[in-house]
Amino acid sequence: MPDPFFAGPGLDRADALRAFPEQIAALARRPDARLLAWDNGAPALDEQGRLVWAAVEGDAPLFLGLDGHVPHFSSLPPGDVPIDSRAHFGLLGQLDPADAPIFAAALSLANWHRRHAFCSMCGAPTAPNRGGWSRACQPCGADHYPRSDPVVIMLAEYRDRLLLGRQPHYPAQRYSALAGFVEPGETIEAAVARELFEEAGIAVRDVTYIASQPWPFPSTLMIGAHAIADSDSLTIDHHELDDARWFSRAEVDAALAGEADAAFVPPPRFAIARTLVDRWVNGR
Ligand SMILES: [Zn+2]
Repeated sequence: MPDPFFAGPGLDRADALRAFPEQIAALARRPDARLLAWDNGAPALDEQGRLVWAAVEGDAPLFLGLDGHVPHFSSLPPGDVPIDSRAHFGLLGQLDPADAPIFAAALSLANWHRRHAFCSMCGAPTAPNRGGWSRACQPCGADHYPRSDPVVIMLAEYRDRLLLGRQPHYPAQRYSALAGFVEPGETIEAAVARELFEEAGIAVRDVTYIASQPWPFPSTLMIGAHAIADSDSLTIDHHELDDARWFSRAEVDAALAGEADAAFVPPPRFAIARTLVDRWVNGR
């Protein structure tokens, strides 16, 4: 299984074709071209957790890419209101990891189209362009590109103990890595230090990058990191967190093993927080 979840190869995005609408239209007319099926605002899954594909008939404005020579497309799912993406978390328990990168790209891209019907420069309606990987504004000539919002998610370590926290909406006993959006003008390292200071009141150093994960709810790039804390004295921001605690290596081991009397329940396998904890236990 790819680790983190969503890290598999996915489709060949074939970026070079995006500038040639007639070539993309020709691909859509091929008898083997496949069109992604949607169900209630998310890519449809079959009973095995695989994506559902149909033949292309009519409009296929989003060119997702190639699997070998087979072109894969998506329509814009029905409805122009972005669906609360938290409604789709439950699908991750069923989704086959091999299809996860395609699921992430299609869902993020579709949500972006649903949120960007109008030009942010002049307010005129925009239309999909470049196989759906941009939107063009005719009146003012602006091109708009889909974006990913960077979020840092990090473990702080102090004398072989890990800092994990609880957000109010977590299931009972769940503790996970702290996280927050990278702000304009900020490095990843600075964002990690700022978020840990804001949420837990600790100063950290030696920030290292571990791994990243797209998170299509709606369009985040999770940047996993590790940092060394200078002290274990916590000042918790209770507007952000229910609780934050230091866990010993033995407590983390017991939680990952699913022991009934473990000190906490770890994050689920599809969350990069789980990857970070697993890699800490295994010496990265
Ligand atoms: Zn415009």
